[in-house]
Amino acid sequence: MSQPTTHALPTIGHEWHLVGRPRGWPTPTDFALREAAVARPGPGQALVRNLYFSVDPYMRRRMDDVESYVPPFPLDQPMDGGAIGVVLASEADGLTVGDHVRHGLGWREYAVVDARTVTVLAPSAAPLSAHLGVLGNTGLTAYAGLLRLAAVTPGDVVFVSGAAGAVGSTAGQIAKLMGAARVIGAAGSDEKTRLLVDELGFDAAINYRTGPIAGQLRHAAPDGIDVYFDNVGGDHLEAALDRLNSHGRVVLCGMSAQYNDTEAASAPRNLVLAINKRLRLEGMIVSDHHDLREQFVRAAVGWIREGRLRHRETVVVGLERGVDAFLGMLRGENTGKMVVRLDTEAH
Ligand code: NAP
Repeated sequence: MSQPTTHALPTIGHEWHLVGRPRGWPTPTDFALREAAVARPGPGQALVRNLYFSVDPYMRRRMDDVESYVPPFPLDQPMDGGAIGVVLASEADGLTVGDHVRHGLGWREYAVVDARTVTVLAPSAAPLSAHLGVLGNTGLTAYAGLLRLAAVTPGDVVFVSGAAGAVGSTAGQIAKLMGAARVIGAAGSDEKTRLLVDELGFDAAINYRTGPIAGQLRHAAPDGIDVYFDNVGGDHLEAALDRLNSHGRVVLCGMSAQYNDTEAASAPRNLVLAINKRLRLEGMIVSDHHDLREQFVRAAVGWIREGRLRHRETVVVGLERGVDAFLGMLRGENTGKMVVRLDTEAH
């Protein structure tokens, strides 16, 4: 249980607070990095020093005071989200000083975590931070969406938007591993589209910033598409509805194009096609698919070892740059998973 530690435990740490609710795009003044006393762990708890934390699109929704599948961030309180840290002191069975753990108290230097809410991370083929991305929730989102909602079958033509991001880059590769005949990705720069085709095995890629997505998708998918994995919404969803074949499936995973909108989206304007073509559009929330996690991680570790699943991440160094990393991710400055590393030491 209580474990001796060789170093004095910290008494003061730093944490990010949301201090104002953004209207439209957030700005740095909506956030503050504040000092906070570091509590000691009680029974069943451990004190963790965070090494990495995740910045994700869904956090933008949590900055609004609206009902959603996760509650809004309270003002003037530490924000939270996925993180990886090392145990400094433990009062919990099963957690030992030096263990690497994944937990939900990101955006801060130190966290007192309840042992029932953490996952102890075993060494694997991938770096620690991959447990926030390809081996974490974004990887599971891609896998569950393709397996359960899209039910990809060999020969399908699959279109993935946000394809160079964390979910999208994994989804495109897993679709190929599931037997898709052709995978097309859309992303926001030529550098990203080159990566998709040259390194991640996509068959074609579209830079949506160089021209209307609808025409580009028509060109890339002359025989239509069977599955659309939607990370973006708006004009991408409209273009996909236009190209979907009869009985096509759409995984409604995210709508990155709309999270900072202050007015209702103007697309898709062609939803009637869902009736004409007998399409199935289904929304997903990754937390409904936790039962797949073990199966997914086993498969993903194998694919990574065999070189069949590649993962990219963009690492921003320094707790103080957490908001820059978050805003940069919303603007598309990331390739693969955007994570914040809390110090400059290699882990
Ligand atoms: P991500 O794709 O790594 O990062 C967000 C990306 O969105 C940026 O890199 C940017 O890439 C793209 N983007 C921003 N504005 C855009 C616009 N106007 N049009 C097109 N693309 C735009 O983030 P992620 O964590 O992998 O999440 C991807 C999507 O999945 C998000 O919508 C997220 O909410 C959703 N998601 C859902 C679940 C769930 O359970 N339903 C779980 C995880 C994630 P470009 O440079 O290509 O523009």
